[in-house]
Amino acid sequence: MGALIMVKVFLKILIFRFLKACRWIRPLPLSLTLRVTNTCNLQCKMCNIWKHNAPSELTLQEYTKIFQSIKGKILWVTFDGGEPFLRDDIDEIVVLAYQYIQPHVINILTNGTLPHIIIDKVSTLAQKCPDTHIIVNISIDGIGQQNDEIRGCSGITERVLQTYYGLKNLSYSNLSIGINTTISKFNVSHIADIIKYCLSLKPDSYVLEIAEQRAEFYNIHDDVRPSLTECLESLDILQRELKQKVFKRYGKIVNILRRHYYTFVKKTLQKKKRIIPCLAGTASARLLPNGDIWCCGVREKPMGNIRYEGYDFKKIWLSECSDRIRKEIQTETCYCTAVNPYYTNRACSIPVLMR
Ligand code: SF4
Repeated sequence: MGALIMVKVFLKILIFRFLKACRWIRPLPLSLTLRVTNTCNLQCKMCNIWKHNAPSELTLQEYTKIFQSIKGKILWVTFDGGEPFLRDDIDEIVVLAYQYIQPHVINILTNGTLPHIIIDKVSTLAQKCPDTHIIVNISIDGIGQQNDEIRGCSGITERVLQTYYGLKNLSYSNLSIGINTTISKFNVSHIADIIKYCLSLKPDSYVLEIAEQRAEFYNIHDDVRPSLTECLESLDILQRELKQKVFKRYGKIVNILRRHYYTFVKKTLQKKKRIIPCLAGTASARLLPNGDIWCCGVREKPMGNIRYEGYDFKKIWLSECSDRIRKEIQTETCYCTAVNPYYTNRACSIPVLMR
């Protein structure tokens, strides 16, 4: 990510903070996550999205109307699923977002099992979205067969690596390829080896997240998270490994952000409460495949459904229902280690930004 993009990001956050301080204005979120499909070709042990195909997903035409209605820029847009590359039109949806809401960063999460499709579409996106930084994050939760077992499908790891190396061979200056590992009950006993293995692949960035019980994963009653001690030990191992690594370009920035994130995760898990104010529903939001807008992936209560509001994002964003949910978030005691709300919550803290 170039210095110019960082300056633009910084300015955008300052403007957001200023507008938010004016109580009568409710600025657009800084970060919007779009789950474009629930459909998935894997059956991961820590996520049940694949069991819940959305009966009617937002179409390309509907996304066009939604992006047109936003009439403003959103700093960071994430596309996830299910597996987003199972949608034939994923590249068209991303390009529409680029054209209408001009994000500085586009982040796409994938399981990496569709090498030809992913490499082809990402290459097109890097060319069609020259003024944004595109990050493709591939999930790897184990080494070889262990990854297959956790992700519920045999023989996938070879395809994941084919995707990873294919993407790494694309040399676009606005493209970064990262690896994501979710620590869960199913891999925590091997986490030191997994971290070493993933870092040995030399990703542009490497992120570790803790499996959580969340409404968005339909796994609220599943025992997926490792014990507190295991989480803390895993994060310590990662932090030690990361200290020895030198990342380039975008990875350098992610690494700095992540250092703070891991400290935040440890404190949150230890104290079992929020340790920074949460701006979910104010600085960040999620759009689900059925058109529901959620403040975050944990609280199930929708701020509204965009299909019932004429595809008008602002009508929902400025509604009384959304204001009520924002107030509830301020007064309630929920806490989580979800990474997207964390980034925006943290970004809205000027002392942290200045570090
Ligand atoms: S603390 Fe977590 S669960 Fe609670 S509103 Fe914020 S993002 Fe959602």
